[in-house]
Amino acid sequence: MAARPRRKAVVCDVGGVKVGGSHPIVVQSMTNTDTADVSSTVNQVMELARAGSELVRVTVNTEAAAAAVPKIVESIGKFGVYVPVVGDFHYNGHILLKKYPDCARALAKYRINPGNVNIGKKHDDNFRTMIEAAIENAKPVRIGVNWGSLDQALLTRLMDENSRQPEPLDAATVMLRAMVVSAIESARAAERYGLGHDRIILSAKVSGVQDLIEVYRMMAGECDYPLHLGLTEAGLGSKGIVASSAAMSVLLQEGIGDTIRTSLTPLPNGDRSEEVIVSQQILQSLGLRNFSPQVTACPGCGRTTSTFFQEMADRIQSYLREQMPVWKGRYPGVEELKVAVMGCVVNGPGESKHSHIGISLPGTFEEPTAPVYVDGRLHTTLRGDGIVAEFIEILNGYVASRYS
Ligand code: SF4
Repeated sequence: MAARPRRKAVVCDVGGVKVGGSHPIVVQSMTNTDTADVSSTVNQVMELARAGSELVRVTVNTEAAAAAVPKIVESIGKFGVYVPVVGDFHYNGHILLKKYPDCARALAKYRINPGNVNIGKKHDDNFRTMIEAAIENAKPVRIGVNWGSLDQALLTRLMDENSRQPEPLDAATVMLRAMVVSAIESARAAERYGLGHDRIILSAKVSGVQDLIEVYRMMAGECDYPLHLGLTEAGLGSKGIVASSAAMSVLLQEGIGDTIRTSLTPLPNGDRSEEVIVSQQILQSLGLRNFSPQVTACPGCGRTTSTFFQEMADRIQSYLREQMPVWKGRYPGVEELKVAVMGCVVNGPGESKHSHIGISLPGTFEEPTAPVYVDGRLHTTLRGDGIVAEFIEILNGYVASRYS
């Protein structure tokens, strides 16, 4: 079963990366280094880009961070990495973008939070200043509403209006409605100030799965701006991964979403690029994009009690991922490769036949042989201690002959 057709959105160019229309759904991420620390931020931006992040956002929260941005962008270019760097602004973006024109020029997009830029509170001068900086530098913006910093004046207005209705909605629905109104009214204000319709991306992030689905369904039905999806504050480890996947998968399946970010909380000194891998895996699992060959591995059971099978599956998965930077250029289409690594002959040969190439290990008490299938046929049977290395050799030969 395929996902529903993508919702029709205008195309927004973010530093050469096209977001919206029928362009591939873009994977993005955000650094967690102090942006003023140029070398740490450069390293993390490059790490995220190498993992496959197609846009990388950095916080621009202080004068030191704004001063660092042009150096960061220049440095990553010198290392031969090109990835558009997006600036995340809150509260003082209007000051920083004006005072640091090199920062405004170096960034590929500005993220503006209408909840904390003064729009709707007293006046919208600060918002307008940021939009004028975007117009002057020919940059797009993301108007990113977050329920943790929702425009309180707007929320109060909608709550008052709702209370006067004969059948008022519940407070939670009004809050989601306020997020959509905040995003769309801000986008329309930006257009009134002269920003192009195709220079705006919207997001409305909440931390609850059902709320996220509801708010994006509403927003998707009311505008044609490209939408940035993401569950905010998704959390740590499996909770963050599962909640993000659950929420975004429902929306992506409905054709909603033009760029995604998985906001995971890494463990101290954890790998920041995990959020990129998870986003890629969501898109690849839904059949929306292919990023790297997929390994189908059985979960293992009492029939394969040794750790050899787990180590083999891990080694092959890691090997494929490590090869991708080179394979991507050399073997077009290799990201569609399907590899099966199975624990025993119960489902091994069957799953192997459904893959391009597959191996089944011998289960406990089975004859110590490992049949290898290529394009649905038995290719060879491996035995002994060198099974993994021999299988990788067969895999390399298959990739070279099929995708050259
Ligand atoms: S393929 Fe074999 S080892 Fe793997 S889960 Fe099935 S029965 Fe168990």
